[in-house]
Amino acid sequence: MIQVARDPNDPDRHELLPDLKKIDVLREGHFVLKQPQPAGQGKHSGHYFDKSLIWSWPNVAEKICTALSHEIYIGVPDLDVVAGPALGAIIPAYSTAVHLSLRLSRQIRSVWVEKDENGRFYMPRLFAEVVKGKRVVVVEDVTTAVASVVEAMKALLAAGAIISGVVFVCNRSGMTDKEIAEKLGVPWAKSLITLSLPTYDRNVCPYCQLTVDRRPINVSLGYGADFASLYPSVAEICGTTK
Ligand SMILES: [Zn+2]
Repeated sequence: MIQVARDPNDPDRHELLPDLKKIDVLREGHFVLKQPQPAGQGKHSGHYFDKSLIWSWPNVAEKICTALSHEIYIGVPDLDVVAGPALGAIIPAYSTAVHLSLRLSRQIRSVWVEKDENGRFYMPRLFAEVVKGKRVVVVEDVTTAVASVVEAMKALLAAGAIISGVVFVCNRSGMTDKEIAEKLGVPWAKSLITLSLPTYDRNVCPYCQLTVDRRPINVSLGYGADFASLYPSVAEICGTTK
């Protein structure tokens, strides 16, 4: 099921999903979402959300950031800074801050939370000064388990930020916005797009079976190539595609 946050005052957002499909961010096919080892692991899905493409399409990116700013404007307008965890949320944090500054007629700063070589989040020193004692909304592109937002928030809190809320472009966590807010301990959370698409274990995947639903395995996205080399007989029956 796919849900898009909508508001009668902002009908443009109704067009988000067709846009995402048009630029191939939301793909349909036969995908392996996680490493298929140890044997038997790795969920299969008929959909793939290729988030890396979004920000290379300025028209779609701007539409998304306009919608993000709208949600923040309605939900938590008393903010000072928009923060995005590196690398994926740097562009949406910046662009959302631009739109919010226009809506609120005051400057909303934008910062990112940096990642070190071990993948740990930290605040660059200059940005730490920007967020200290300020009300911050965290923007994240896609979340599957809100884990990276938790880590980014720790870095912000350590720098003295006050987290007012969190907003996601795409929520694949299976949690509602309210559940996410509770889990993160923040007053407000909002997902622009909520994706709860079914995933399957290999042995019950309808696209792997000898049925009309059988689909070629996509070997260019996710872990389809690993799967195909691990299970050559299945790959031969299904076929592969890029
Ligand atoms: Zn399958």
